[in-house]
Amino acid sequence: MISRIKSEQLFAEALKYIPGGVNSPVRAFRGVGGQPFFVNRALGAHVFDVDGNEYVDYVGTWGPAILGHANPKIIQAVQAAAVHGTSFGIPNPAEVTMAKLICDHVPSVKKVRMCNSGTEATMSAIRLARGFTKRDKIIKFDGCYHGHADSLLVKAGSGALTFGNPDSAGVPAAFTQHTVVVPFNDEAAVRAAFDANKGQMAGIIVEPVPGNAGLYLPKPGFLEFLRKITEENGAVLIFDEVMTGFRLAKGGAQERYGITPDLTCFGKIIGGGLPVGAFGGRAEIMDCLAPLGPVYQAGTLSGNPLAMAAGITALQELFSGNAYEKLESLGAQLEAEMKDAAKLANVPVQFQRIGSMFCGYFTEEPVYNLADAMHSDRARFGKYFHGMLEEGVYLAPSQFEAGFISTAHSAEDIDKTVSAAAKVMRQIA
Ligand code: PMP
Repeated sequence: MISRIKSEQLFAEALKYIPGGVNSPVRAFRGVGGQPFFVNRALGAHVFDVDGNEYVDYVGTWGPAILGHANPKIIQAVQAAAVHGTSFGIPNPAEVTMAKLICDHVPSVKKVRMCNSGTEATMSAIRLARGFTKRDKIIKFDGCYHGHADSLLVKAGSGALTFGNPDSAGVPAAFTQHTVVVPFNDEAAVRAAFDANKGQMAGIIVEPVPGNAGLYLPKPGFLEFLRKITEENGAVLIFDEVMTGFRLAKGGAQERYGITPDLTCFGKIIGGGLPVGAFGGRAEIMDCLAPLGPVYQAGTLSGNPLAMAAGITALQELFSGNAYEKLESLGAQLEAEMKDAAKLANVPVQFQRIGSMFCGYFTEEPVYNLADAMHSDRARFGKYFHGMLEEGVYLAPSQFEAGFISTAHSAEDIDKTVSAAAKVMRQIA
């Protein structure tokens, strides 16, 4: 057993002052048992805990670290920006550069507004869709997570799912009565929801590739169907690309699947590791926002110069060179080798992957939606997670999270990961 004495001491102290000892629930390891470790340094594809242990990291600060941790160019950009002030609350040139970068690479986005988290992005996009259509109802899919705004904490994924409260306490029923929840990949259910709410649907919000209940992919034609039914009903199609934006392609999942949504939400990667979100889309919809239109949305720190510097640098780095080819090839290597390892160990695993996102469900059956994902053996995942941690590999501490590969991972990191997985899977077979 590797020692984590300092982490244990810190966690005991944290529990006294921070609810559950953490500032975001999934970090607490409750989905896998045990206690979290504390990290004080990260570099490239590796994180280092306070006891000096090193891990190959597939959490990547939950998605932003697509270039690995402590990318020297991002650090330099943040340092250079900080010298001139950490916040102005007055327009700054970097906001224009950032907006242009996003619009140039995501053709559906004609105008974009920055905010400070993915939660703010989705919350604001929903408000905008409602304000634009003058309708109240929205469709979301069970297992999709769109942050922790009240109306979206219904059958939510990520930590809400891991801890068994996908419908949070503290959210009045009246706040969610306009949220219609249907299973992902289920066209009939979406059609029925539109039929039952004729003329009332403001829009659909969807993770085009859901990565908050593990990872499952849209069936061929499903996203096209969502585009068509929203168009036919005058409803707004919102792609929540907080996770997939700039990860699955320069233009996100919408580029990969060839779909043009009306609005798109971003976060994670566009902040280069600083707190950022954004939402954008059709100009006529975006122009409904204050100060031009009646839909209010604002933020003291929105467009923050440090966050813009980090995000702009991250995007420029991603766009120069062959980042996406590298991510694809590392992903393919991981997938092929993991599937072999699982087969050899005789452990049933559905290894799902798209680009640099992956998830191994411990189940015999294919996974296309939340109900399928719930068939996975979570006790076995917990053993697998802790086994991998002992081998120096850090996966997200829940069966219901996606893993992320960065451009800083090497083929050797992947080999090490698969050797560890082969060993651990033999132990838990
Ligand atoms: N949408 C999606 C698809 C996400 O994955 C997340 C966070 N994991 C959010 C929204 C919320 O983002 P944040 O945690 O930055 O509020």
